[in-house]
Amino acid sequence: MKKVVIFGECMVELVSKGGNDMIKSFAGDTYNTAVYLKRSAPNVSVSYLTAIGEDFLSNELLFAMGDEQINTDQVYRCSKRNLGLYMVRTDKQGERTFAYWRDNSAATQTLNVMTQPPQQIDMFYFSGISVAILDEVQREKLFDLIAELKHQGCEIVFDPNYRPRLWPDKDVAQAWMDRCYSVADIAFPGGDDHLALYGHTDADDVFGHLAPMRIGETVMKNGAVGVRIKNAQGQFIVPVEKVNDVVDTTAAGDAFNGGYLAARISGKGVTESASYGAKVAGTVIQHPGAIIPVEALKKAVNS
Ligand code: ADP
Repeated sequence: MKKVVIFGECMVELVSKGGNDMIKSFAGDTYNTAVYLKRSAPNVSVSYLTAIGEDFLSNELLFAMGDEQINTDQVYRCSKRNLGLYMVRTDKQGERTFAYWRDNSAATQTLNVMTQPPQQIDMFYFSGISVAILDEVQREKLFDLIAELKHQGCEIVFDPNYRPRLWPDKDVAQAWMDRCYSVADIAFPGGDDHLALYGHTDADDVFGHLAPMRIGETVMKNGAVGVRIKNAQGQFIVPVEKVNDVVDTTAAGDAFNGGYLAARISGKGVTESASYGAKVAGTVIQHPGAIIPVEALKKAVNS
């Protein structure tokens, strides 16, 4: 059985239903990818590496992971800290506003409380958010772990998921993102991220910037425009079927990554995997929230 470890932060998600009514669930970029990867490839072992608190919401997250068949062997407890939380409000025009309470969350301490680092795994996945929430000492521990995993033959997968509010400034963010890219075997740059962070306006800019990092497989997402892939065989363009009745784009990129990696691990080629990832993402954006009902996804991807 192939083993994947996904590292990051899962938060409590509160979605306002108008007035004071809220719907509570659990989400976060890397967690969303873990969920869609496992749902798309049930025969792959997916563990989530994070730290949670000892509060009741942290316990509920463990049950949610159990429901998704995500392994909790890499979930560490951090006493005196809680899960991070974010709230989403959608106005009458459909515009979403986010508010976050995550600064001192348990997940920011993951590398400090990790006692049994993952080893002998096939794939390790992390994002720019996973790195941004750590202090510098823990970032070095993370890169030590990645170096050890690479040495063992593990594939490293990275998505920048640039969130300006998590970084002191663009220069610092760029330096860390470039360091992350340079250890990646598979990378998922997003068009919006690269425009905001580096000022790149097209795929050539992105691939040009990443060329010195020697990433084996670069998969560039660009909304409904399509997916561009670069690997040792060359460049490929994979069209995406445009979804017109978009309900909520939250987790589109994360879902794409989960579907893509599930297909790749199952032995599919890069273009077929991108089409599958796009199908998963295209389904997710037709439903509210980051994690959509299991049945909704099954029905759409099997149709
Ligand atoms: P991110 O969420 O990282 O910004 P994108 O907006 O590029 O990522 O979207 C990720 C993936 O979601 C795309 O590669 C595509 O497969 C799918 N997607 C996003 N928007 C649409 C859309 N309007 N129609 C169809 N697919 C979409």
